Amino acid sequence: MATKVCSKCGREKDSVEFPKRALNRDGLDGWCRECWRAYKRQYRRANHDKMEEQRRGTYERHGEKYNAAARERRRQKAIAEGRTINDGANHRKRVLKQETLYRKRVQSRSTNVDRVSGIYMIRSISKPDRFYIGSSVDVHQRWNEHKSSLKRGYRTSPKMQNHYNKYGEDDLVYILLETCEDWALLLREQYYLDNFKPYFNCCKVAASLLGWKPSREMRKRNSESQKGKKASPETRAKQSAAHKGKKKSEEWKRKIGDANRGKKHSKASKRKLSAARLGHKLNLTPEERERRREQFRLNTGRGRKKAS
Ligand SMILES: [Zn+2]
Repeated sequence: MATKVCSKCGREKDSVEFPKRALNRDGLDGWCRECWRAYKRQYRRANHDKMEEQRRGTYERHGEKYNAAARERRRQKAIAEGRTINDGANHRKRVLKQETLYRKRVQSRSTNVDRVSGIYMIRSISKPDRFYIGSSVDVHQRWNEHKSSLKRGYRTSPKMQNHYNKYGEDDLVYILLETCEDWALLLREQYYLDNFKPYFNCCKVAASLLGWKPSREMRKRNSESQKGKKASPETRAKQSAAHKGKKKSEEWKRKIGDANRGKKHSKASKRKLSAARLGHKLNLTPEERERRREQFRLNTGRGRKKAS
């Protein structure tokens, strides 16, 4: 077995450990492979920028040639396999779309200094009494979102969607009513909702979805995703405030009644209810008082008999 001494590290190694060099007398390089590896590694580390520049230069001079060759190979392969050819057009389209979306997202970040926070109106030109009031921390971005969802038919507001479908995009204009601080948005929006009664708004309470009915699929989806979650105290307070003073429909009352029929309060909950009522006077008419007394007697078999 032939061996050779490396002129770099000075160790004697098997000749297969040396790279081939046809022009050298023994046909082998003076340095062993291990020494070459170490040298190249060190060189790459020391000259990273220079090599990057060289790579870029090579790509600029020859890249298109190689890309064309690769395209041609793909084309031939596609023809051989009987596929349709679009030369990566779909891929380029996808990439472009993703880039646009990304740019939009970056622009709309709350840190965006160009964003305008305020109340806006979307108004019909042909029917000026029809308009929509909304608020956003970035009204321009929101207008774009409205346009896009109208185009796709996402029905943010069914009335506005119907109007859009009938009269087209050009009939709706976007008007910035006022700019305000983020914290005042809902207050200002509510002011406009109360005073102008916008035709397109289905929710008459700012930032609530009252009066808006989602589709069956959407309800199912939301229900699935909300299962087991509990709203924060602030959210619950808001929800409660939004419902306060609302008159319940007869249907609603019947449904609640049906749902609760036959249910009994637990002992703990009875104690709580009793404690809450303590000291309250019922203010009943004598007839009602008598009716309740009778009911209690029938239910329990206890209590004073009706005076007759
Ligand atoms: Zn060596």
